[in-house]
Amino acid sequence: MSEETENRSMHFIRQIIANDIAAGLQPSAVHTRFPPEPNGCLHIGHAKAFCLDFGMALENGGKCNLRFDDTNPDKEDTRFVDSIKEDVRWLGFDWADREYYASDYFEKLYNYAEELILAGKAYVCTLSAEEFKEYRGVPGQPGKEAPGRNRPVEENLDIFRRMRAGEFEEGAYVLRAKIDMNSPNLHMRDPAMYRIKKAEHWRTGGDWCIYPMYDFAHCLSDAIEGITHSLCTLEFEVHRELYDWFIDNTSAKNLNKVQPRQYEFARLNLTHTMMSKRKLQQIVAEGIVEGWDDARMPTLSGMRRRGYTPKSIRDFCEAVGVTKFNSLTELALLEHCVRQDLNKVALRRMAVFDPLEVEIENWEEGKVDELNAINNPEDESAGSRKIKFTKRLFIEKGDFMENPPKKYFRLSPENEVRLRYAYLIKCKEVIKDAEGNVVKLVCTVDPDSRGGNAPDGRKVKGTIHWVSADYAVMMKARLLDVLFTRADMADLPDGTDFMDFFNKDSLVETEFYGEPALLEAKAGQPLQFERNAYFVADEKLWSQDKPVFNRTVTLKESFPKA
Ligand code: ATP
Ligand code: MG
Repeated sequence: MSEETENRSMHFIRQIIANDIAAGLQPSAVHTRFPPEPNGCLHIGHAKAFCLDFGMALENGGKCNLRFDDTNPDKEDTRFVDSIKEDVRWLGFDWADREYYASDYFEKLYNYAEELILAGKAYVCTLSAEEFKEYRGVPGQPGKEAPGRNRPVEENLDIFRRMRAGEFEEGAYVLRAKIDMNSPNLHMRDPAMYRIKKAEHWRTGGDWCIYPMYDFAHCLSDAIEGITHSLCTLEFEVHRELYDWFIDNTSAKNLNKVQPRQYEFARLNLTHTMMSKRKLQQIVAEGIVEGWDDARMPTLSGMRRRGYTPKSIRDFCEAVGVTKFNSLTELALLEHCVRQDLNKVALRRMAVFDPLEVEIENWEEGKVDELNAINNPEDESAGSRKIKFTKRLFIEKGDFMENPPKKYFRLSPENEVRLRYAYLIKCKEVIKDAEGNVVKLVCTVDPDSRGGNAPDGRKVKGTIHWVSADYAVMMKARLLDVLFTRADMADLPDGTDFMDFFNKDSLVETEFYGEPALLEAKAGQPLQFERNAYFVADEKLWSQDKPVFNRTVTLKESFPKA
């Protein structure tokens, strides 16, 4: 059993599928779909949805379709189709040849609409959007029937065909299902099925000037594809009755042995960020971030750039679980999953951000010792590399204290410390500038401590990282933090705007001295700068002349400034 399998818990969707299988459904007949609208890049909330869609299919040997929900001609774009495919693939899921588009079904959907008209279950209506709402009424009070609700079938059919032919202006008519104006469920009060929209569609071009509504298109697309379990977020719960109605009242009900069923689960909300595509779109458009794939964004392309791994995101989605209750998930949980995976896979490297020069008094000028440094103590197969020890080194300023408190194990006058993978050194002299700032340390090395241990077995507690001042390379780091200082961005105080909580320190650029091995870094390869944080070479800004690293996550949990 793989580790990912072990971490699975029995949530209610798994239970429903298990029950269906117990009742006779072939496991391999489990068929789900992930239906993104190609009007933005996918975010971590979508990952929760598609890990579930693909996950349920995979676990049972079934299938999951990728279906682009492209029923709205205004807002969609093929560049989002490509980015969605890249993101789903990146997380490790495969839809084989089942890449579908709701627009592929426009003709079929149109025919189902005619079926409903012929059965007296749909009619054309001239009410404006406002009148439509007013007639629909409110829960607890019956709605009002629209004028023309009882128009003869032939007339409805004729007008609907002329709607398709482009004879009317936008808004002149909508096609509505004739269900029940007194239903306690407002969605059942004669919902709209088609509206006139004189817009070119990026796939069907000028073929259509009427477009189906989501509620009509989605369930019938599921039926057309033979979906068994149609998983969606909670806000669709009140649409479920309509979902079933469209299938039950058209010949779509005869398409499959097992009728598609809709099940709803809570959407993911994550602290210090937003899941609203509209708002994400806004900060991209206004240039507040560098694009959809800005490494601070909750998008999958952003997280990839930031150095999050597919496994950590899958683990997170599994850990969040699937429930019926909306809640706010701590970013700390996601970061925990990221650290857990990075600890196993990240190559260790040394980098000094706030350099203090160390000169080794008893080391010959020009002498270089090549030491062995382990690439990943958690993974033997990662091997080791050579690091160069020279007379002049850099350590972090923060690893030296002139007047240390008790139990300070890093460098201080006359105190011995271990340089990672190298030698034991002792501080002999502290050199200061005119203002009294420490600018350099003169140290001695124990030449017999090569590798980091004293031959006499004396205990040296502290180990610090370092780089050779002669060989280290100046590189750029982007220190990334949360986009918003407020935890719950879905529920803002009255009178505030989400930009009021924008974290101005969410991106801090700095320079550091990195060991030369960092020049060989590959975009996407996880790295740990020892004792500092996890980093990754930025896939866009990286070049060997100008190496740029993104800080993926700190080594330990640190809560964002509130
Ligand atoms: P829009 O407001 O544009 O409809 P959306 O976020 O619902 O945005 P879709 O492309 O329609 O975007 O979403 C595809 C699927 O992902 C849907 O099944 C939707 O329910 C699911 N989904 C979207 N956001 C989340 C979220 N935060 N958590 C879990 N699932 C989500
Ligand atoms: Mg949606």
